[in-house]
Amino acid sequence: MGSIDEALKANELYAQNFPFADSPKVPARKLAVLGCMDARMNIERILGLEPGDAHVLRNAGAIATEDVVRSLLVSNYLLGTNEVMIIGHTDCGALGLNDGELRERIERERGATAASPAQFLGFSNLEANLGRQLRTLRAHPWIPESISIRGFIYDVATGRLAEVKTNRPAITTE
Ligand SMILES: [Zn+2]
Repeated sequence: MGSIDEALKANELYAQNFPFADSPKVPARKLAVLGCMDARMNIERILGLEPGDAHVLRNAGAIATEDVVRSLLVSNYLLGTNEVMIIGHTDCGALGLNDGELRERIERERGATAASPAQFLGFSNLEANLGRQLRTLRAHPWIPESISIRGFIYDVATGRLAEVKTNRPAITTE
């Protein structure tokens, strides 16, 4: 059985005893989270969230892309969230990812070029990357100053979050 078929079986069980029918559409904790897609991070469990509590956006590297900004504006203006957590993590797959090499490899394997994605957005320093994403969101003219935006590194070995403060230079771990 493939993984999708296995997942569908699990969903059957989930839906048999479904306690979240009355969850609110407006996130109860007024929280939005941007996290990496890493399979070891279960954002809801890491943060003690239940369905209806928060918006969770994920992509490779927890990058504040145009689409993340789009989603955060919907989250904030239409659905009332007022705090944002960005969560990167140790041992991230995007750490050390070389844009040019990956592009070349895919082009070689597929025998074709593509205009999009324009970039893979790999990075070489966890804290510095997180700082960039924090600055991108804080500097956006449509994200109000009243929105609290904070950044964290999740340690995949301990399950613990550590806040990255960006009012001082990023700590270099390399
Ligand atoms: Zn990652």
